[in-house]
Amino acid sequence: MPTIIRCSSLSHYTDCPRRAAAKMFFKELSQEYGFDLTPTYTSAGAAVGTAMHKSLEAAIVLRSQGKPYAEEIKRVAEASMIETVREGIVWDDTTFDRAAGVLQATRQAHAILDVFPDLEEIAIEGEFTADLGDDFILSGHIDIRGREKGKHTIQDFKSGTVKRVNIPQYGGYSLLVRTSGQKVDLLREIYIKRVGKTKAQPAPIIQDYEPAMAENFAYAIIKQIKSDMRRFRNSGSPWVWLPNPNSMMCSPHYCPAYGTKFCKCKTKGTENV
Ligand code: SF4
Repeated sequence: MPTIIRCSSLSHYTDCPRRAAAKMFFKELSQEYGFDLTPTYTSAGAAVGTAMHKSLEAAIVLRSQGKPYAEEIKRVAEASMIETVREGIVWDDTTFDRAAGVLQATRQAHAILDVFPDLEEIAIEGEFTADLGDDFILSGHIDIRGREKGKHTIQDFKSGTVKRVNIPQYGGYSLLVRTSGQKVDLLREIYIKRVGKTKAQPAPIIQDYEPAMAENFAYAIIKQIKSDMRRFRNSGSPWVWLPNPNSMMCSPHYCPAYGTKFCKCKTKGTENV
């Protein structure tokens, strides 16, 4: 079985490599090496992000066909939140129930559409994959591709209470698209802040990145992941991966390794999150 490296994991690898490994290789670490990793539930932020993404994809296609899309945004956001809540979710102070999540996803999607240009040759694809050699595969789900003012763009939507830097993820997307024989001139992130439902929705922030720099960043991390995984399979030691207990995501809510044999940097029950 090939080892899958997901583009969305690349940025996390520079934050806490050990947490990223625990998430990426959860099955192998648990089943073949006996580590007592704990599955994590979807965070409220990720749930709102997923609902927003699905709504946007539906709305952008409808808008490009000149059709109304407001009702569809709400319907898709609601269906997505229902599904995530059924699977298990960790609420937070900003999104404390399903209704708040639907409202946030809906208004975030509308705020993005207010600034999102009409692209030519819109493509909303599923999964891209590329062979990385040595039985490793790079995989990624790209939000939207399309041509804008003659440039071939990859556009990614992000939502959250804090804006993070996701250059390696976009570099991975660029590698995937170019490996499939298509052009990439520009990588664009459209970030929208997730705020409490009684607060006004801030406008989105648009950030462009140059593909060559992002690809170099992604490739450096991919090489590191392959090398670390090879060393782990030889030694079985979690110390192949440096832990970062100062990470903002060092919490039992977000890290399957928290307080387990795989990472004892912090102990369950002493967390303040
Ligand atoms: S418990 Fe903290 S330091 Fe350890 S792997 Fe998880 S996030 Fe990293």
